[in-house]
Amino acid sequence: MSTEPRNEPNLLIDGEWVPASGGTYEIINPATETVVGHAPNATADDALAAARAAKDALPAWSALSADDRASLMAKAADAIRAKAPELLPLVIAETGATLAVGSGMQVPVAADRFNRYARDFRNILQTPLPPQTATATPLAPGGVISGLVNRQPVGVVACITSYNFPMVNMAGKVAPALAAGNTVVVKPAPQDPLAIVELARILDGVGFPKGVINMINSSGPEAGAALVDSPDVDMVSFTGSTLVGTKIMEAGGKTMKRLLLELGGKGAAVVLEDADVKQALTCIASTWAFHSGQICTAPTRAVVHVSKVDEVIAGLVQMAPYLQVGDPNDKKTKLGPLISAAQRDRVTAHIDGAVAEGGEVVVDGRATGLDTGFYVGPTLIVGNNSMTCAQEEIFGPVITLIPFEDEDEGIAIANDSDFGLYDYVFSADTGRAFNVAKRLKAGHVGVNTAQRNHEAPFGGFKMSGVGRDGGDFGVLAYTETQSIIWSA
Ligand code: NAD
Repeated sequence: MSTEPRNEPNLLIDGEWVPASGGTYEIINPATETVVGHAPNATADDALAAARAAKDALPAWSALSADDRASLMAKAADAIRAKAPELLPLVIAETGATLAVGSGMQVPVAADRFNRYARDFRNILQTPLPPQTATATPLAPGGVISGLVNRQPVGVVACITSYNFPMVNMAGKVAPALAAGNTVVVKPAPQDPLAIVELARILDGVGFPKGVINMINSSGPEAGAALVDSPDVDMVSFTGSTLVGTKIMEAGGKTMKRLLLELGGKGAAVVLEDADVKQALTCIASTWAFHSGQICTAPTRAVVHVSKVDEVIAGLVQMAPYLQVGDPNDKKTKLGPLISAAQRDRVTAHIDGAVAEGGEVVVDGRATGLDTGFYVGPTLIVGNNSMTCAQEEIFGPVITLIPFEDEDEGIAIANDSDFGLYDYVFSADTGRAFNVAKRLKAGHVGVNTAQRNHEAPFGGFKMSGVGRDGGDFGVLAYTETQSIIWSA
């Protein structure tokens, strides 16, 4: 699947497509190392102009009826679906996603997310409280005191996202934020922004009022940082690294920004001695086969009971050669490239580091035999949890296997991490697995499955973030809670 080089010099600010003040820069196809196109390079001033436009558009948008907002969201979902044949090759070209991941996840899930929020949310935005009786005092007449919890939109939301799933991540922020009555400034990741330029064009085309959705993009961090500093921005919804998340929390504190931070992960798949190893292997190998491990929820640490270690290693060793590494447009390919040369070098440096720390590289993906493209093959390291490869997020197809002797030790190893986004437990006894799940310090725990439930609240414990989105929780995340009290 190929795509013509795109030249996208413009930003969407206040309903106008205006040239980015910093010109354009090249977007590189990570599989071919050729130019996919040129993306707009916004400056801090462009970002501030976008924030002002979103602020001006806020009163009318938040006052619009829930039905009218929902109908625009539904149109957006339809328009994304209609553009899927054009979007898919672009997303594959700039992210390196395989055909399966691109066609199954990247584009359709973005449409699904707009569709999910094409509803009237008044049932969750206004909730009555049980009445209270109060006796009269010299200062108040007493009576039956009623209360309504009213959720207002927060205001202007800066939606700043990471590379990997540009459309899905952005749709997961923009759709619930708009549904709750907020206006947005969208800022994708510098590596893969072209599909987001196209998404902004689609949204602009379905009739959202000017200024409700603004899109900026830049090659460096300045434009995003300007949004975080801007007094016109009320909330930052961020998906990205923990390092940048801490900077946003610090900088946002000056203007008391509301924050939704979806950050890094170092998931543990805890395989108990009674586990169905085949089931566990499917989950663990998703660190290899799902977007080459560039997934925050990946089970990158296989924490395995000693009695199952040989079976798990043998299973992964047997599986690895069948996972074809290479051209993402080839239907047989399971591992496409990593996003950039820098990321490939970072991942291979982690594998080198694991060897230096005494880890045993049982499956080695450093040499793929591919001269072009930023590839790393499936890698399995057997080691311990204090190794750097077990503590730091690698964001590549690297599994670290760590043995344990008993359940308490397995849980302690899983919890011995700065991160706490998504863990997994495998056991034939689901009651036992649930008890283990409740002791894991992670925002999500999959019991005998890697399948997500998209209605569940999503977010991290510890350094994996702040706040929750997903399903109705996504709408609530973009609201301020107000109590209205009256005497009946
Ligand atoms: P990153 O943190 O380097 O960049 C993310 C975004 O932040 C980009 O748009 C970047 O331009 C912007 N940015 C950088 N500095 C900024 C600043 N000072 N102020 C405001 N914005 C700034 O992340 P990445 O390398 O693109 O993505 C990989 C990371 O994203 C991994 O850590 C991964 O776990 C995480 N991630 C998390 C989730 C989740 O839902 N928890 C999902 C996907 C990715």
